[in-house]
Amino acid sequence: MKKVILSLAIWLLFLSAISQNPVYKQVKVLYSVNSLELLSANGFAIDYVLEGGYILLSLNRQEMELLEGLDLQFEITIDDLERYYQDRNAGKNPDEILNSFRGSKEYPVPDGFSLGSMGGFCTYPEILDHLSFMAANYPNLIMPIDTIEGGTTIEGHPVYWTRISDNPQINEVEPEVLYTALIHSREPGSVQQMLFFMYYLLENYNTDDEIRQLVDHTELYFIPCINPDGYIYNESLNPDGGGMWRKNRRLNEGGTIGVDLNRNFGYEWGHDNYGSSPSPGSSTYRGTEAFSEPESQIVKTFCEQHEFRIALNYHTYGNYMLHPWGYVSYLYAPDHSLLQTFGKLFTSENHYRYGNVGTLLYIVNGDVNDWMYGEQTTKPKCMAFTPEIGNQQDGFWPEIERIIPQCIESMQQNLLTAQLAGEYILMTDETDFNLIMPVGHLSFSLQQVGLIASDIIVTIEGVGDCFEQIGGPLAIGAIDTMQIITDSISYKLRPGIVPGEALSYVIHIESGNFHLSDTIRKVFGPAVLVFTDSCNNVENWDSTSWDISTYQFHSAPASITDSPDGYYSSSTYSSIQLADTIDLSGAVASWMHFYAKWDLDGGIDYVTCKASSNYGLDWVTLPGRYTITDFVPGEESLPVYTRKQDSWVSETIGLCEFCGEEILIKFDFKSDSKTNKDGFYFDDIVIEKIVAENYSQEIFLPVGWSNLSSYLIPEDLEIEAVFGDIIQDILIVQDGQGFFQPQNPSGTLDKWHTHSGYLIKVSEGVSLQIPGPAEHNRHLELQPGWNLIPVVSSTAIAVLELNIQPVNSFEIILQPIGNKMFWPSKSIQTLDSLYPGHSYFIKMYGAGTIDY
Ligand SMILES: [Zn+2]
Repeated sequence: MKKVILSLAIWLLFLSAISQNPVYKQVKVLYSVNSLELLSANGFAIDYVLEGGYILLSLNRQEMELLEGLDLQFEITIDDLERYYQDRNAGKNPDEILNSFRGSKEYPVPDGFSLGSMGGFCTYPEILDHLSFMAANYPNLIMPIDTIEGGTTIEGHPVYWTRISDNPQINEVEPEVLYTALIHSREPGSVQQMLFFMYYLLENYNTDDEIRQLVDHTELYFIPCINPDGYIYNESLNPDGGGMWRKNRRLNEGGTIGVDLNRNFGYEWGHDNYGSSPSPGSSTYRGTEAFSEPESQIVKTFCEQHEFRIALNYHTYGNYMLHPWGYVSYLYAPDHSLLQTFGKLFTSENHYRYGNVGTLLYIVNGDVNDWMYGEQTTKPKCMAFTPEIGNQQDGFWPEIERIIPQCIESMQQNLLTAQLAGEYILMTDETDFNLIMPVGHLSFSLQQVGLIASDIIVTIEGVGDCFEQIGGPLAIGAIDTMQIITDSISYKLRPGIVPGEALSYVIHIESGNFHLSDTIRKVFGPAVLVFTDSCNNVENWDSTSWDISTYQFHSAPASITDSPDGYYSSSTYSSIQLADTIDLSGAVASWMHFYAKWDLDGGIDYVTCKASSNYGLDWVTLPGRYTITDFVPGEESLPVYTRKQDSWVSETIGLCEFCGEEILIKFDFKSDSKTNKDGFYFDDIVIEKIVAENYSQEIFLPVGWSNLSSYLIPEDLEIEAVFGDIIQDILIVQDGQGFFQPQNPSGTLDKWHTHSGYLIKVSEGVSLQIPGPAEHNRHLELQPGWNLIPVVSSTAIAVLELNIQPVNSFEIILQPIGNKMFWPSKSIQTLDSLYPGHSYFIKMYGAGTIDY
């Protein structure tokens, strides 16, 4: 009997050792709506959901037993997660890895940022060291960390906060935003990106206007670690990283440990048992009542002391950007469309999926997002978001090489959070691709999406000399958040502008602290319709699977879609191609316009629009206003339609590179093996071109030397053809590099270039006729030293108005034949204007450009 008791005691000791340091396994459960619901109902914390694929979970021994009792199909994918996380970083040198990222272009790694000693992540003391270092080195921008009132954690730790702003010691009247991390203690990526962002603000304040603007006019608050007990616990058991403790360290009744702090907040706390668990042993245990935990109370107190407009509550992982509501899936938050707009902007670079938690993933109740947004009596409404950073392979403790990419990926949403708390305006160009009239209006629409509305001033500035006049600044009063207004500013084009000439202008928008400058490109000339299709049938197209949809259309009764029967399938490639070629002959400009909407929001699913000028042998993928790049792995520059565009948009794609050719157009659809959605729709497609008008330039050449150029493109560029009628009178033609002499085969000049100036010597006075369309590329590249330049303009240009860049980059402009010159440093100006038909010498200090 004694023996039995002894072995029982050893057995109990063994058991308690196991429960103190349980082995976590990664488990893949086959996805279905039912399996997701069953897992939620049993209180499992769900790491990652791949709709139509699988659900990833990290489970300890007790949870494994629970899972085995459920009727679910699953496999164990990683046997010991903590070991797995540690092992994959073993032997790596964080400093070396950090250095390999130094000098990266976009969001360069700040000097003060470093990787930590816990598998590349900072330990709790290392986080505090960084914060002290910042306060010591940037006392004018960040205050020393302070403790949040309202007590300490269960193990007696304070929860710290700090603030970045100009005058960081003072609570100024500026929009307040909040960034939090580590509410779940096994998600160290959440704090690491925060340190990166903070250093980035501090180090770039003096040199980056955008950062200075943002720091000067916003108060940025940070809570780097909401759950220090859990984080320190992980650190103590897994000093090299990989610790899997998620909850706080509350000793629950019955002996289990921990409350899920992100289920303990007081808005719809415990709404049901799917979004949180009533069982103390569960990973999503919500506690005995709302705000039963000191950590959640501390966050509550802090929010009630401030007026946070927007908050990012960081978690890992899954590449999501989640917003309220979390507690229900069938109900949209009152500000759903504004939250969606924020989500779309936040993720425009990192391409995370965004949406309300309840619809996008699974139900969560009592989380900090719902409380920050939903609680509007004890504090103002806060647009709260949960970024879930890191991909499926990263898991909770990513490989060290992935830490900095995760920080960089988070930068745009971090910066935008501060910007959106003030004025923020989205501008859409509403002017047709071609301007037909020499006078008219340039239209645009504006949408205020920032949380502050101020008066708006719109200014339009012409680029080059295409515009003779553009109306003055337009003052628009403040418009409400989400309101859209359309307006315009008048223009008058330069006389003599010819069809096909490129026009560009910059729209500047100023509103409070917000500034935007956007360059818009157009073309002048009346359009000729080349192709039109109202997409009510597929007669003009060849495809085996694309067809019309009568459920979705821009104009009734139908549009064309990749998957007419509903959702598209996995791992699919399909295509729809024009049956006949499109004739762009004689075109100097061309474009395609259509309406589109799409839902390609899952995995790597996308549509591309392509053109071919050799009957489909080679295809060029076309960029449009709504395509994005950096989306397809290995094909980062590929412009694609992807993610989600709920409403019909007006899309324009330039086809200028195919001018003069016959082309085919097609749309390609590709899906991966993962989530499937509704697909891509297009409607009312139109292709137009501008046909060059032919002109003729007459240039008189007196006997002897003349300078020569033309703003027209001769139909035949062979030099003998250009001088056909007067060739017997030509002694020599030079372009600064080569020469041409009739009957002299050693001449090296055989092609005419509109971008060259020429010197010509004739044996008697003659008149040269150059017929052809106007050169619409009026941009010249200049070499350092002497250049012989043409006049690519139908009118005389005053030398003082010549657009030479950089400014003051030339020494002298002079007539090659004659003695007129413009020599600013000697204050000599006998040359007033450059005349069409002539060429001029210009001496540059360095390389430069000239735009006529
Ligand atoms: Zn989390």
